[in-house]
Order: sequence, then C-alpha cells, then structure tokens
Amino acid sequence: MQDGPSRGARPSAGGAVRMTRAVRDAVLDHARRALPDECCGLLIGTVLGDEIHVSRAWPARNLRSSPTRYLIDPADHFAAIRTARRNGLRVVGAYHSHPASPPSPSETDAREADDDDLVYLIASPALGAVRGYRLEGGRLRPVELRMRLSPETGRPGR
Ligand SMILES: [Zn+2]
Repeated sequence: MQDGPSRGARPSAGGAVRMTRAVRDAVLDHARRALPDECCGLLIGTVLGDEIHVSRAWPARNLRSSPTRYLIDPADHFAAIRTARRNGLRVVGAYHSHPASPPSPSETDAREADDDDLVYLIASPALGAVRGYRLEGGRLRPVELRMRLSPETGRPGR
C-alpha cells in the first residue's frame, strides 16, 4: 500500500485526511476506467476542526479527454455540491489521476490549486496508489491519508 506520510522531515500539511477504503478504491477504479486519459472528480464529506473526512468520491467528466490534462465538467461539479448539501455535507476536495507519471503534483496542479480548505488527491493506476495534498503557503504539500473502516460498502460511482 502506498498511502501514508511521504518521506521527509515534514510529514504532512494541515490536518489529517480520513477516508474509507471504499473511497480510495472508487478513485483508483475511476482512474483505471479512464485510461489512457486522466480521470477527475470531487470528494464529498465533512470538515472537523482542521481534519477533513471524505465519505464519498463523486466521479466527474474530464472535458479535456487528455492523458495529461483534466477539466472537471462544471455540471458534475454543481451536482456534487447539490448532493453534498442535501446530505448535510460539503465538497471537501477534488481528485484526478496521473496515467503515466508519479502521483505527485505537476506544475499545473500546483498552479490550479487555490483552496487551502480542500484536499487534492492524485491517483496512480500504474502503482495502485492514491496520495493526498493540501495547499500550504502557496504550495501543495503531502498530507497523511488515514484509512478507516466503514460499515457501508460505499458506492463505486458511475
Ligand atoms: Zn496532475
């Protein structure tokens, strides 16, 4: 398993991110189905203190249909916001995949990340890994992903 703090002196930015294995598996499954293109989507959950709890992955259409770029379909983004609100939750992050490069933020990823309240997940279908990042001081820094068991199986999405 590739999750957990990255190597180095600074293990994580911001608060921890907790998610179920079902969410992690849904993101990886989406990344595999989207090959050779990047996949993208939103993450729905709650914020408790400085911790982010992700309860559901919300797959979105990649309007760019590219192996190196993604653009979340705004209609899918709004649907995620509406669904989250209806359930007393919120959009707490976003995810995309790197089909042919390591799951670390590209320059484009760093430039486009603009919300330090969100967690940004990057999936590597080749490694079967999902890594998390939060914006801190204008940079995307690795954050620890803590897996927790869930009584529900979670929905793999579309
Ligand atoms: Zn990227």
